[in-house]
Amino acid sequence: MAYKIFTSQCISCNLCLTVCPTNAIKVVDGQHWIDPELCTNCVGSIHTVPQCKAGCPTCDGCVKQPSDYWESWFTNYNHVVAKLTNKQDYWERWFNTYSQKYSEQLQKRQPQTMAPQKLK
Ligand code: SF4
Ligand code: SF4
Repeated sequence: MAYKIFTSQCISCNLCLTVCPTNAIKVVDGQHWIDPELCTNCVGSIHTVPQCKAGCPTCDGCVKQPSDYWESWFTNYNHVVAKLTNKQDYWERWFNTYSQKYSEQLQKRQPQTMAPQKLK
């Protein structure tokens, strides 16, 4: 599974061009593009992480190209979860909101307590 460049995110800084150990990154018609035949995911090089992804200033500019539906699904899922969990106190706020809504629903469902009637 080679890496690919999201051209909509790319700001054409050219950093990935200089760091790729296999010269897999090309510029075609002004757009940066990774040749999947040349990309080795940096495996077998002196690098321990994919250099294009590690150095890209856009965060999302260089991403792994999914090879099938489920790989694509999990890639998107992990991406979304990573974004959510990076938000400070996201889950705490989510839990507080959920708890509040849940307790409101419970209160609506509880039968009204009847006040005792006075005997005449
Ligand atoms: S993952 Fe490595 S080999 Fe593949 S394009 Fe990026 S820098 Fe080049
Ligand atoms: S490092 Fe990222 S932003 Fe810079 S040219 Fe490569 S893909 Fe585009």
